[in-house]
Amino acid sequence: MRYLIGLWLIASSLLADAHIFVYHRFGDARHASTNTSIDTLKKQFDYFRKHGYEVIPLSKLVDALKSGKKIDDKWVVLTIDDSYRSFFTNGLPVFKAYGYPFTLFVYTKATEEGYGDFMTWDQVNEAKQYGELGFHSHTHPHMVSKNDGYLRKDFETGLALMVKRTKMRPRYFAYPYGEYDARVKGIAEEFGFDAICNQNVGAVSNASDIYDIDRIALTGDTELRSKLTIGFLPAHWIEPRAWPEKGIVKRVTVETNSTAKRGQLYLTGYGWQWVDLKDGRVDTLLDKPLKNRRSRLILKLENDRISTKILVKP
Ligand SMILES: [Zn+2]
Repeated sequence: MRYLIGLWLIASSLLADAHIFVYHRFGDARHASTNTSIDTLKKQFDYFRKHGYEVIPLSKLVDALKSGKKIDDKWVVLTIDDSYRSFFTNGLPVFKAYGYPFTLFVYTKATEEGYGDFMTWDQVNEAKQYGELGFHSHTHPHMVSKNDGYLRKDFETGLALMVKRTKMRPRYFAYPYGEYDARVKGIAEEFGFDAICNQNVGAVSNASDIYDIDRIALTGDTELRSKLTIGFLPAHWIEPRAWPEKGIVKRVTVETNSTAKRGQLYLTGYGWQWVDLKDGRVDTLLDKPLKNRRSRLILKLENDRISTKILVKP
């Protein structure tokens, strides 16, 4: 472990952090919590442009991660989950106007069966000319609650449809609802994706796990500027590793490369609390029952460096 922490120290001094954002619906006020108004979208794009951010395709970031090429602090990647029709009608024209690439994570069953709120395959294929396509599952299940057989069949069915309808196999996968655990991640990895994206608050550095890439949600009135200051915190979550027994988080133990003496720990439903660090290690008794079936623990240290652990009830 000391060796690993040594590597982290060397690595983190060289690291820069890119940011990946997630959108869902555009200009669709019926769904406030997942919507980004067109006015807000243009303001965000103007902010990127004015402050020298380079909006790059996910493939450029993933290729840099794979080859060890330096990641640029000014890189921003834009992703869209669920392939809602409002992306095609309202969002895509803005992306085209700014020349910004994107990755659209397709919910294949909704498109195949023509669910009213979703893009058709023709629309997906037209959008593909301006961005990249990723896979977002076939049936959009809460994956942690599904058995191995169900999950493998979901991947097989959806990926076969993607190939049939778009003539390409997606290189990237994003979990429905951002929900996963070690078992679900292992099954997703069987399908040969170049990268797998979660929906945990955090940045992307050369130390990121390519199969566990953080993305920050940018819906509603999320404040963009504060999200761009978030840094990647290399952290090893020792406890909890998964949904805890009886749903109670007894203890939190995390190893980091930090020299900070204090940091902040967030738990869904409880908010932030201060925690002490000793030699980069947080080891604190919590004894808190989880309130949500999808909960997150977030450790935030100096310079806004963040590591998130998601806990989903099986
Ligand atoms: Zn989704």
